[in-house]
Amino acid sequence: MTAHARLLLLASFLLPTTVFAQAIPDDVKVQAEALRDAALQDSVAYDIVESLTMEVGPRSAGSAGDAAAVRWAIDKLNALGFKNVHADEVLVPHWDRGTLDIRITAPYPQFLVATSLGGSPGTPEEGIEAELVRVESLAELRALSREQLAGRIAFVDHVMERKKSGAGYAVSTRIRSCGHVVAAERGALATVIRSAGTSTHRVAHTGSMLRNNVPATIPGIALANADADILAYAMRSGEAVKLRLHSSARYLKQEMSANVVAEVPGNGDLANEVVILGAHLDSWDLGTGAIDDGTGVAIVIAAAKMIMESGESPRRTIRVVLFANEEFGLSGANKYAEQHASSIDQHVVGLEADFGPGAVWKLSSQVAEDALDIVAELHTLLEPMGIEQGDNKASGGADLGPLRKAGMPVLGLSADGTEYFDYHHTADDTLDKVDRDDLNQNVAAYVTAAYVAANIERNFGRLQPSNNVNTCAAEFD
Ligand SMILES: [Zn+2]
Repeated sequence: MTAHARLLLLASFLLPTTVFAQAIPDDVKVQAEALRDAALQDSVAYDIVESLTMEVGPRSAGSAGDAAAVRWAIDKLNALGFKNVHADEVLVPHWDRGTLDIRITAPYPQFLVATSLGGSPGTPEEGIEAELVRVESLAELRALSREQLAGRIAFVDHVMERKKSGAGYAVSTRIRSCGHVVAAERGALATVIRSAGTSTHRVAHTGSMLRNNVPATIPGIALANADADILAYAMRSGEAVKLRLHSSARYLKQEMSANVVAEVPGNGDLANEVVILGAHLDSWDLGTGAIDDGTGVAIVIAAAKMIMESGESPRRTIRVVLFANEEFGLSGANKYAEQHASSIDQHVVGLEADFGPGAVWKLSSQVAEDALDIVAELHTLLEPMGIEQGDNKASGGADLGPLRKAGMPVLGLSADGTEYFDYHHTADDTLDKVDRDDLNQNVAAYVTAAYVAANIERNFGRLQPSNNVNTCAAEFD
């Protein structure tokens, strides 16, 4: 072989890798880094979450606060200069917490701090008084016979694990949404759980008790961690422990809410393709919804705004979607996916912010295998902020679930969840828990990822559509 031939052979091996070596062109990288660094210095995110929590506050589905939040979002997005700002109507359930009185009547009478779980029916007018049966897991609850549980109150005393990834929440939410189903099947009158949360303050963590939007048949109540301790102590006495509870929780008529949508329109051949930046506009009623999900709303709006003001239109359209009623049944997420079923293939990738204001520590994804080199290169832009490269199994978040199941790839930017569940779904979810620097770091991560996704020639492929429905059956525990 001549030297020339050897060179040609070498070139033929090198050429494909040279072509694909760079998934993100230099000019896109340079601009993404500039946006990232600017966001770290300052972003408008804090002002947005401050405005939402101070001017609107609690905004649970169907409430007056929910309607006010929709008006707030429309006004805010218009004022910031977004295009195609509009509200897509979504019918939402309206559940009212009412009042709750819960106390131990024997052996050590004492009032307890607790809250009703979303979707809980109230008690009869005269309340419920019954003996308690304590278990620590769903498996233990399933092992009880009807004889052991009928006419009693089930107490599921599982301690949620504190983790940076927030992984302990999955076990606890399953107890929250399935404990009452298992208990009711065995004739229990109500279910009391230790909160799905890690707070050491005397606050209870609410959250939906419904799985797949099936109505609950018995009351579901969450105790503050400290109060679950009191109850667990009483159980250790060996005597029969009796609880008395009265709740006026109830459903009101459904109300019209909305997904609030705004765009940074793309320019050119890829303009009809969309990069989704999602967060949810609703919150639970106990706090002011600062970390869940005011910060998410602020992060995605701030990131999109930075791209809008960077001088040049992105190639793809960036669409901010503030979803209606995530907390109590994903009404907005399901409606959006239905509405856009015929244009699902134009949704090239989605990012959701719904894990509080902790600094982002991991980039994960769920994209086609042959697009993993794009994610790896994106990671090099995020690494200077202390962000690790995760796996390709990201869920993408609850609101993007229906789109992901229809084939849309997702990127996941994991916020540090170590302290998130101290405040999540409690009266303690207020603005003072938001750290400006960590919030800006989130915006920096989102703006980098969104800018790259909107401006590279390639895309993230498609996912295999799936239709998994996770029920309360034991096989899913
Ligand atoms: Zn949330």
